[in-house]
Amino acid sequence: PQALFQLVERWVPAARRAQHLHGKGYGVERLAQAIQAGELVNHYQPKVSVSTGAVVGVETLVRWRHPEDGLVYPDQFIGLAEAHGLIDALTQVVLAQALRDSTTWAREGLALKVAVNVSMDNLHALEFPERITAVAAAAEVKPQSIVLEVTESQLMKDLRAPLEILTRLRLRRFKLSIDDFGTGHSSLAQLRDVPFDELKIDQGFVHGAHHNETLRAIFFASLGLAKELGMEVVAEGVEDAEDWDFLQKSGCDLAQGYFIARPMPADQVLDWVAAWRARWAREHAGGPSSG
Ligand code: C2E
Ligand code: MG
Ligand code: MG
Ligand code: MG
Repeated sequence: PQALFQLVERWVPAARRAQHLHGKGYGVERLAQAIQAGELVNHYQPKVSVSTGAVVGVETLVRWRHPEDGLVYPDQFIGLAEAHGLIDALTQVVLAQALRDSTTWAREGLALKVAVNVSMDNLHALEFPERITAVAAAAEVKPQSIVLEVTESQLMKDLRAPLEILTRLRLRRFKLSIDDFGTGHSSLAQLRDVPFDELKIDQGFVHGAHHNETLRAIFFASLGLAKELGMEVVAEGVEDAEDWDFLQKSGCDLAQGYFIARPMPADQVLDWVAAWRARWAREHAGGPSSG
């Protein structure tokens, strides 16, 4: 019986984890409680300039620090928040935390733009622009330093509805970014109508593009289109040295990915930036831009 008991003890958490992987593990009440109790924590992944190595900003990626289950990833609870009207609360909590963290970095002399992922459901609330303007004002962070990322696939399901809110956000000087580009099948005409500042090429067209002609074709078509429309371009999913080398020659502005940095807690960002600058200086010592 003792052995059986141990077996069950080991099996139960594993089963619970497996259930979560299928997205059915958490109830909406538990998630609401987690948002209120401050169990959501922001991790940050740097966006760096491909040509100068400058760290221009970070993207906020939310995690749920679950007391029993450990770190739970957004794929496990963002959909739940969207489906049950919790996404407004979630976005505000995440944004407020991101602005507090960016203020801390700024006090240490590091000015970083902060990107926050917003859901399409956020863009259905007419008061959203005012609400986040208030959050930014309370934190004394300029909207120009705040980037709002919306995935192309969510946008293209219905572009007309959010257009007014996107325009209002733009008028308030927030930066708008179209995320996971290449997976949402937008047309050129649609893109021209939306006032985006930044386009992020989906990791599926970045990682491995150096040895895959099809990926490269989509990558360069996206890059050319975005440049034509005056947007800044970010390559997502830079996972290895080959991806990074490819980007150096591509004409892409910014890069993000595990090769540069994994998402990290706020208190690691300053040290990471120092280490990154040292790595860049080392790798470029004696090169054409030194001295
Ligand atoms: P995303 O905004 O496209 O973020 C990029 C995702 O790719 C992140 O996963 C990141 O950890 C991962 N990633 C970064 N670099 C690499 C790489 O080199 N290789 C690979 N394979 N993956 C990489 P994560 O953190 O699990 O987030 C997944 C998605 O959840 C995000 O995709 C975003 O759409 C959504 N999300 C995250 N935080 C929030 C939030 O606060 N609000 C909302 N509405 N959605 C969020
Ligand atoms: Mg994003
Ligand atoms: Mg993305
Ligand atoms: Mg994504």
